[in-house]
Amino acid sequence: MSHIIHRSLQSTPLTAVGARGIHIMDAQGKAYIDASGGAAVSCLGHAHPDVLAAMHAQTDKLAYAHTSFFTSEASEELASHLAAHAPRGMDKVYFTSGGSESVEAALKLARQYFVEIGQPERTLFVARGQSYHGNTLGALAVGGNEWRRRQFAPLLMDVGRVSPCYEYRGRQDGESQDAYTQRLLQELDAKFQEIGPQRVIAFVAEPVVGATLGAVPPTPGYFKGVRELCDRYGILFIADEVMCGMGRTGTLHAVEQEGVVPDLMTIAKGLGGGYQPIGAVLVRAEIIEAIRQGSGLFQHGHTYIGHPMATAAALAVQKVIQRDQLMPQVRSRGAYLMRALQAKFGQHPHVGDIRGRGLFCGIELVRDRASKATFDPELKLHARIKAQALANGLLVYPMGGTVDGRHGDHVLLAPPFIVSEADVD
Ligand code: PLP
Repeated sequence: MSHIIHRSLQSTPLTAVGARGIHIMDAQGKAYIDASGGAAVSCLGHAHPDVLAAMHAQTDKLAYAHTSFFTSEASEELASHLAAHAPRGMDKVYFTSGGSESVEAALKLARQYFVEIGQPERTLFVARGQSYHGNTLGALAVGGNEWRRRQFAPLLMDVGRVSPCYEYRGRQDGESQDAYTQRLLQELDAKFQEIGPQRVIAFVAEPVVGATLGAVPPTPGYFKGVRELCDRYGILFIADEVMCGMGRTGTLHAVEQEGVVPDLMTIAKGLGGGYQPIGAVLVRAEIIEAIRQGSGLFQHGHTYIGHPMATAAALAVQKVIQRDQLMPQVRSRGAYLMRALQAKFGQHPHVGDIRGRGLFCGIELVRDRASKATFDPELKLHARIKAQALANGLLVYPMGGTVDGRHGDHVLLAPPFIVSEADVD
């Protein structure tokens, strides 16, 4: 019996002993196609020689130096790289060890900014239903995944909640896409008004919704409207790109495709591609400048921020993505994957929707296509799909979410950017 507190306390997972390219090997010698990159993490696949070499070199040079004394060459170079490729003006970088930590840091930075500029009355965040922003208390509070929140709800800060942009279920019969988008923006405006816009710190949203809904892109113009509303009231916009960012959707940042620039953006998973635990917050320079001229200190910090091993690995990952021009490849392989999914499952009686962007695809499962009725949660369909795929040597990321207050099942696919058409087949 394992001493580890595994995700399930009723079973011990397989032991992974090796990995190469898009495959992970277990202790029995069985190979699995990593079709979800873990949880949309493994963007370069496994054991990429350039990343391994960079990690070895960094181990020889410097493994760790506390950031209250030192910066490091690897961290400085990675921050410069991220700033050079960030949306306009977002050229300040705060390093963390992962996604939830990035969201926590973004929430606190946003709050501190308003305290520093003399607007301490801003104390509330607004976020969307059916979203996931992490499992630490602040991130869980802004998240709208009811199943994850339920038992911790009494510990969580109050958050203003609005509907997600989820066309498959949210757009009404006869409603145009534009009318649906305007309806969502009116709901957001009404929420700001209800709270009092001068009390809102930031609106937090995933540009393409990942874990809770399964690769749901926004409708055209939705985020432009969000940006306008936030600007109207001086509210910050935090884009959570922990899952959909760092190239997953075919551009380095998903929000680029919406033509808007957030104030803060959280990134993680694909930043280090799983080679090391690392995340970051990209921040508009004015925000950091205001704090610099005020207290001069972001009142936050963890022991492992800017860890040299992590930043060296992430730098190598990002350089390979750029050198090998993987963004066009993500777009073309993503289109190929989407066509293959449509051809194979598009007419399946229990597939309600196939959606996504780049190499980030979601398949929503329904009991009935016409009514979009969901399966009974007792069936644990998503768990059974995961087990069956695993038995067949395929790693997919299925989730049972909440759909209109009821249970829903979807399967997320997020293969490494190096996936070939033959692999997709
Ligand atoms: N934000 C989003 C959008 C995520 O998808 C996740 C993880 O899936 C997180 C935050 C939390 O990241 P982590 O699991 O690295 O703490």
